[in-house]
Amino acid sequence: MMIQGYAVMSPKSELTPFEYGLDPLDPLEVEVRVQYCGICHSDLAMIDNDWGMSAYPLVPGHEVIGEVTAVGQQVKNIKVGQRVGVGWQSGSCQVCHYCDHGKEHLCIDEQKQTIVGRHGGWADSVRAQARFAVPIPDGLDSSVAGPLMCAGTTVWSPMIHYGVRPGMKTAVLGVGGLGHLAVQFLAKFGTQVTAISSTHNKEDEARQLGATDFIATRGTDELAKAAMRFDFILSTVSADVEWSQLIDALAPEGRLCIVGVPESDLKLPAFPMIMYERSVSGGRAGAPSDTAAMMEFCAQHGVAPMCEQFEMKDINHAVQHVRGGKARYRVVLAN
Ligand SMILES: [Zn+2]
Ligand SMILES: [Zn+2]
Repeated sequence: MMIQGYAVMSPKSELTPFEYGLDPLDPLEVEVRVQYCGICHSDLAMIDNDWGMSAYPLVPGHEVIGEVTAVGQQVKNIKVGQRVGVGWQSGSCQVCHYCDHGKEHLCIDEQKQTIVGRHGGWADSVRAQARFAVPIPDGLDSSVAGPLMCAGTTVWSPMIHYGVRPGMKTAVLGVGGLGHLAVQFLAKFGTQVTAISSTHNKEDEARQLGATDFIATRGTDELAKAAMRFDFILSTVSADVEWSQLIDALAPEGRLCIVGVPESDLKLPAFPMIMYERSVSGGRAGAPSDTAAMMEFCAQHGVAPMCEQFEMKDINHAVQHVRGGKARYRVVLAN
């Protein structure tokens, strides 16, 4: 069977139409006809080989929504015709301690990533282990659900794993593709959300998404005035920031969770962390069960990413739009 997709042939190059064949379907895998696929910053990092693990030709795309067209012989949980999503991870060993405990995203034996050493969702079809094909509940619109498969689960999972509860004071650093979803989740979760951005430009939108307070950091003392305030701060930014100011903004026992990858290593002040038992943690896209729970939450509470849609054939235009920082807030490709 031949697949039509869009690939880059070398680092930082443009996407070109690319046809490729696939081996017979693995007994544990499903095949998904791609209806929509988002553009994530990790796709751009893979195109550019920023992480040194790209193989070319490379077909990016790991925010897939589509319909299952074939299932492997051992697949029992997914049926042909079912609507599913596929995200960054598309396979794991399935038997290690972590896989066995529903934490496949932490599998230490054999993590398969959708666009590492295999072809992703900027194509008419993509494959994943059935465990990683997440059913999409009725009530979620396919045309905007794709970004939930990466951006959504990336900000959802840390909230769940680090025990964010209603009534907490929370903050989201960065109002972008990840941040605009984090603000919605934390607000619907019953926390009091502050959005933190460099300027006040996105304040109105952040408040519409559920933020009750807004802090602009550039040239102001607004963050300094928030000392000891937050139980949980989620950082979605990829720039270096004043980490010590964020530590000071944590309440006693507060946690700063990093889901964006800053340019430099973090420089953290030990004393204010020790004094008030504050923590700094990493967070990432969760296991399939976390993502499935998030999808149900989105369907029930009306959470959705704000998306701009491009035709798949306009892929290079769409990528330039994202690279230019113009996406409000996520770009989805339609097949
Ligand atoms: Zn991603
Ligand atoms: Zn495993």
